[in-house]
Amino acid sequence: MRLGVETPDVLIDVRRLPYDRIEETGEGGLRIGAGVRNSDLAADRRVRTRYPALAEALLSGASGQLRNLATTGGNLLQRTRCAYFQDATKPCNKRAPGSGCPAREGEHRNLAIIGHSEHCVATHPSDMAVAFAAFDAVVHVVGPAGARKVRLLDFHRLPGDTPQHDTVLERDELVVAVELPALPVAARSRYRKVRERASFSFALVSVAVALEVADGEVRDVRIAFGGVAHKPWRAHAAEEALRGSAATVEAFGRAADAELAQAEPLRDNGYKLELARNTLVRTLAELAE
Ligand SMILES: Cc1cc2nc3c(=O)[nH]c(=O)nc-3n(C[C@H](O)[C@H](O)[C@H](O)COP(=O)(O)OP(=O)(O)OC[C@H]3O[C@@H](n4cnc5c(N)ncnc54)[C@H](O)[C@@H]3O)c2cc1C
Ligand code: SF4
Repeated sequence: MRLGVETPDVLIDVRRLPYDRIEETGEGGLRIGAGVRNSDLAADRRVRTRYPALAEALLSGASGQLRNLATTGGNLLQRTRCAYFQDATKPCNKRAPGSGCPAREGEHRNLAIIGHSEHCVATHPSDMAVAFAAFDAVVHVVGPAGARKVRLLDFHRLPGDTPQHDTVLERDELVVAVELPALPVAARSRYRKVRERASFSFALVSVAVALEVADGEVRDVRIAFGGVAHKPWRAHAAEEALRGSAATVEAFGRAADAELAQAEPLRDNGYKLELARNTLVRTLAELAE
């Protein structure tokens, strides 16, 4: 709003709605209210022990002051940091549909390498959402038509020819909670974020990984990338390549290659391919030790 990207007639403060609790689901998971602050979620003992990559992702985002105010719902719904989107004097299909995408030929070093379209090459900036994507989180939504649940993997969209829609949320719907399922493998997980400076900076590439190894073999694995696409990117091909394979650095490299084969880097962001590969391989290797 300060940048003039949004100019609403009416602003509704949702912070006092009763969605500020983290509750057990009964099936061994956690239901996180949309109003739970990023700092409180990262500090929750259940999150730190059962889903440590989520706590790490939260703590890698923004700054202490911002995390004390930022909510689960708001962090999911934050919009891209593409410089053209944030500059209301420039064309941008996401801000002004049909006006064009100057980032494609212009400044796109930090933007997407997977799943982009000719209409938009932006990335989604949330760290928290990457961990949620790896852990099969479900978003709980209410609106005039009632309540519904959306898998986090289906909540954010790829840009296609309608990049103005970041998510599948309708205009009159509110996120009330995010549910994490019981997921034993998540107890052994990490979030690694590569950025231009050590804090207060968005991911160039990030990865949330959970890994279970037994007898030198990968028994279970969950992988999601941040900073590479218009949505948190679940690495299904890499997971598929790893399940049942030897837990070696070579196998981790092959799994990364299987996922990144679909990447289409732009003129100036090809460096993200190697960065994503190395970040994933190193994180898997650390978890396998
Ligand atoms: C300098 C700076 C650095 C940052 N670095 C990072 C970073 O490294 N990683 C990272 O992940 N984030 C980063 N952030 C972003 C920050 O985490 C977000 O601004 C914050 O999470 C937004 O949360 P909020 O609750 O304040 O949401 P708001 O800003 O209040 O809302 C964001 C959007 O979500 C909508 N919304 C809010 N709640 C709901 C709901 N319950 N249902 C439906 N819609 C809702 C609002 O209408 C709005 O459109 C950074 C921000 C700044 C300013
Ligand atoms: S990449 Fe997306 S957000 Fe950035 S200028 Fe193009 S349309 Fe706008």
